[in-house]
Formats: sequence, C-alpha cells, structure tokens
Amino acid sequence: MLFDQQLKARQTRREVLMSLYSALIFGVTGLGLLLLWQYGFTRIYSHISDFPLWYLPLSVFFFLVLHDCYYYWLHKWMHSSSWMRPFHMEHHKSVNTSVFTSFSFHPLESFLQAVIVPILLMIIPMHPIALVATLLIMTFSAIINHGGVEIYPMKKGWKGLHRFIIGATHHDIHHRNSKKNFGLYFTFWDRIMKTEK
Ligand SMILES: [Zn+2]
Ligand SMILES: [Zn+2]
Repeated sequence: MLFDQQLKARQTRREVLMSLYSALIFGVTGLGLLLLWQYGFTRIYSHISDFPLWYLPLSVFFFLVLHDCYYYWLHKWMHSSSWMRPFHMEHHKSVNTSVFTSFSFHPLESFLQAVIVPILLMIIPMHPIALVATLLIMTFSAIINHGGVEIYPMKKGWKGLHRFIIGATHHDIHHRNSKKNFGLYFTFWDRIMKTEK
C-alpha cells in the first residue's frame, strides 16, 4: 500500500512537471497565434455580425471534427513511427491515468498537438467567443478522458452517446492497449479504421 502511494506520488510529480512544459509550449503557440491574428493571417473575425449567429456553434463543431481527424492520424503515427514512438511513450508512462495525466506529454508531442490550433484558424472562420468555447471543450475533454472516472451515464438509454463520444472508459483502454482507441473527441475514426475496442 505504502509502495503504491510512493509510486503514485512519483507519477504525479512527473506528470505535473511535464504538464508545466506543455503549458509553456501551449503559451508560446498562443502568442504565435496572436501575432498571426494581428497580421491578418487567420480567419478569426472580430464582429459577431460578420457571420450568422447559427454559425457560431457550427464553427466550434467544424473545429472539433477537423481537430479529431488530425489527432487520430497523428496519434496513430506516433505509435507506429520508430523515432516518434519514444517521445509519445512519455504520456504512456501513466497506465493508471489521473487528471494530472491530461497534459503530461513530451515537449515535442505538446508542440505537434498545439500547432494544429493556428493552422485550423487559418482555415475556419471563427469568432473569439467560439474559439474560447473550443479551447474550454478541448481542456475539459482531456481531463474527462484521463480522470479515471466515467462521467457519462452508463445506463442503457445512453448507449448512443458512448457510441459517438469518447470518455474515460474509451481512453483508459488506450493507455492499457496501445493498439486500440486513438481518437480524441469522437469514435468516428476508430470505428471506420477498426481500431476501436
Ligand atoms: Zn492519454
Ligand atoms: Zn497513445
């Protein structure tokens, strides 16, 4: 028991340290995004009336779908590439995940994860409100997937939700069986590529 607690404490210390590096890299990427926005390279629009109001939630959805696609293929590649795999394994050192695992990545992986945000904002027109909502969904989804507790209802009537949305159960399986469940938000890619367990 004492040994378990020592292991857990060591894991948390490592995860917090790696998350601090991730926060630094995400912050620098955010700064880069602000510069791109300032110099007119992004499709961020400041006046909410530039697009219809219904487009606001739709832009969030577009972003999540494209981000999910990028992440699935990046993640699958990180597991199959002999040079990238050791970097991704930093995240996989945590088999029993906790909220602290959510952003515990090697800095190279943090960069590969962050760089898609400015790229997508050069493609998808987005209002800052939609962008903040997206970043919140991104953050909470990472925490939900690593929290070690399934927060989505497991009752029969909710089966449909689990078929499409990724939660702790889905991602926990990935930390135990690294050949399955590569998705981020939706089960779509895992299902069509037959990598879902
Ligand atoms: Zn994970
Ligand atoms: Zn992985």
